[in-house]
Parts: sequence; structure tokens; C-alpha cells
Amino acid sequence: MRLDKYLCDMNIGSRSQVKQYIRKGCVDVNGDIIKKPELHIDETKDIISVNGKTIAYKKNIYYMLNKPAGVVTAVKDSRDRTVMDLFDASISKGLFPVGRLDKDTEGLLLVMNDGELAHILTSPTKHIDKTYYAKINGRVKNEHIELFKEGLDIGEKKLTKPAVLNILKSDDISEIELTITEGKFHQVKRMFKAIGMEVIYLKRISMGKLKLDDTLMLGDYRELTAQEIAQIG
Ligand code: URA
Repeated sequence: MRLDKYLCDMNIGSRSQVKQYIRKGCVDVNGDIIKKPELHIDETKDIISVNGKTIAYKKNIYYMLNKPAGVVTAVKDSRDRTVMDLFDASISKGLFPVGRLDKDTEGLLLVMNDGELAHILTSPTKHIDKTYYAKINGRVKNEHIELFKEGLDIGEKKLTKPAVLNILKSDDISEIELTITEGKFHQVKRMFKAIGMEVIYLKRISMGKLKLDDTLMLGDYRELTAQEIAQIG
């Protein structure tokens, strides 16, 4: 791979920024300063440093995004802003969102360039717990807990799989957490509709053991740690 592409892929900067670093003599390959962006390197063997700091080779890159409402979960869209528009253009190439949150849903969304893992995570046979915080128009009561556990008719061939409803506040506007293991289109909204209620705010707060980092503002993202990557696989 070309040296400038490698540095770009490792998120050192945009293609033009990394070319400048190389031409200024900030980059060395196996200890030799290299000023040619087009130099071919073996990313698995050569040791590349920028300003004396060795760049650890990472084949794949994984981010968590705190998705805001108003953007669609897609790489491109002819009408709406997408979650990828929230990423800095210098790092967004090759990245895609995994799974889907509705345009008006907020919270934890994984964005990565690892097609293999994305395929596993979105496979219907992989039942990853997904927990949502929601505000519901109506009084959610203890008797509803059993209905969610038994499964609800949301107009699919089968009832929904057992879901865990945790009531945080039971009032005219209730607050709940719901953990589901499936990912049907509008599933949480359709489950509440099935009991005659409406979701008025929805946010995903965790997927499996991976929790949304509550220091991330809406629209912000950060790389997953090695430990978090191991948790999602
Ligand atoms: N369920 C929904 O209804 N919407 C989402 O965005 C996610 C789960």
C-alpha cells in the first residue's frame, strides 16, 4: 500500500495533510526519513513513525456514535443528512453504520469498516441484547411487564421474543427501559403500539455489554477501546 494511503487509513490526517507531513520529513519507515508519499510499504511488516511516534497498524476501525435525532442511518441519502455526515471527512472513507436507528431515535450506533463483524452483528440468528430508554405517552404499569415478557403481536408471523421492561416512572408520560433481542423495523414503537401506547422519545443506551459513553454529546463519536471491541464480537 502507498505510504500516504496507509497514514490516511490510520487516521493520521487527510490525504493532503499526510502528504505534507511526508514531504516535511516527519515520517520515517524502519528508521529512514521518507519524503515520497507514493512509496509502497508493507503495512504488516514495516515500522512507520510520525514525528518519532510509531503508528500501530490497525486493519479495522470501530467507533461509537451518539446519534442525534434528524439524521438517517445510511452512508448516503438523496434527501436527508446521514450519520456519516457527522464524521470528519478525513476519517469517514470506508466507514458504514451497523444496524439501524430511526431518524428520530438517538443514542448508541456502531460505525466501522469491518464488513465481517457487521455481518455477524446484524445476522438475524445473532441475538444481541439492545436496551432502549424511552418516554411513553401513557401510564406504563406493572401488568405490562408480563405482556412484554410473553411476546407481543406487532403484525409479524410470530410474536416478539421475550423482552424485559423496566418501569422507571409510571405517569401520564412514563419513562421506561426496554431490552429486546431482535431488530425488527420500528420494533420498540410497534411493541408499545401493540399495547395501545405511543413512544414519544427513544434512545438506545446499550448493545450487549457495550454501553453508550455518557460523556459523548449528541452527534459526537469516539473510537472503541480494545476491550469494547472484544465485548461486541
Ligand atoms: N425500535 C424502534 O422503534 N426504533 C428504533 O430506532 C430502534 C428500535
